[in-house]
Amino acid sequence: MINIWIEYPSGNLLGGFKMKYLVTGGSGFVGSHLCETLLGAGHQVLVLDNLSTGSYANIEHLEGKPGFELRVGSVNDYDLVEECVRECSAVFHLASAVGVRLIVDQPVLTIESIVNGTDNVLKASSRYRRKVLITSTSEVYGKSDKLPFREDGDSVIGATTTRRWAYACAKALDEFLGLAHWHETRLPVVIVRLFNTVGPRQTGQYGMVIPRFVRQALSNEPITVYGDGMQARCFGHVQDIITGIAGLMEHTGAAGQVFNIGNDEETTILDLANRVIALTGSASKIKIIPFSEAYPAGFEDMHRRIPDLNKVKAAIGYAPKRNLDAILTDVINQFKGGQKV
Ligand code: UDP
Repeated sequence: MINIWIEYPSGNLLGGFKMKYLVTGGSGFVGSHLCETLLGAGHQVLVLDNLSTGSYANIEHLEGKPGFELRVGSVNDYDLVEECVRECSAVFHLASAVGVRLIVDQPVLTIESIVNGTDNVLKASSRYRRKVLITSTSEVYGKSDKLPFREDGDSVIGATTTRRWAYACAKALDEFLGLAHWHETRLPVVIVRLFNTVGPRQTGQYGMVIPRFVRQALSNEPITVYGDGMQARCFGHVQDIITGIAGLMEHTGAAGQVFNIGNDEETTILDLANRVIALTGSASKIKIIPFSEAYPAGFEDMHRRIPDLNKVKAAIGYAPKRNLDAILTDVINQFKGGQKV
């Protein structure tokens, strides 16, 4: 097996030399789009997924395609992880508990799967010297008000009695561990902090706002805006995110570093609700719901979250191509085409 970070020139991921990639969490929303991109570029893909928060429906169309293989199992199973890593040349580690509801409702599962899963992936990658890209999250910035968030900015995390912060801390520990492997043995580890990522196939089942609003609008139900709706987010289209992830995997200079990936166009949630209503031509009305009713105890919403994208732009020329209206149009079309929530 060849070590891609040493042997191959930049440009191999989507171009010339064909590789076999392990994608943990490949049946998830982001993972399934990544698998399509890799297969489309002629690579082989091995997916390791336990089909929990991901869904078989996301990758059903890939089964049977040349170069694609699904192995159903957990990243918590070290022997299985090792077997998969050994067979591949590089690893995209996306498997993770997702969504605020799951995190607040099932904190043990969240912490264990995030920390143990990443530990297993890193141990196996270290053993076989595979490049690993770990997907982390903008949650790691916590309640910081130093906007836009820069990769070297401080994390401001709330009390351990507020369960939401378990996710941020577990992901931060993954980052520490990945960077520690780079520091001690120069294992090529890249950390990517994903900001709000949206697009076709994302389900509203775990609380994500855009699929929820689109489904509500298309069925003329009330649009559920939590709090006063003045909290703001930046939404990135999954295809732009995949371009960034793929670019960082092939960029040798990314090893040992942390990168934000997302889109820096900011919108309030109230404005988002109005845009969804306008774009769908819905008769829905906005319904304001206090946070205390929207979420179980142990939750705290973030006010604003904007990525500073300068570092990833400088590294690989990353520039998101799809603005919020294009993103919403894409999601609306997908729902009209029959996507279930
Ligand atoms: N949100 C909302 N109504 C919903 C679902 C979410 O107002 O039906 C809000 C949520 O409180 C948050 C924002 O939309 O302020 C983004 O929520 P999401 O769960 O998509 O992402 P995150 O909170 O992780 O940024």
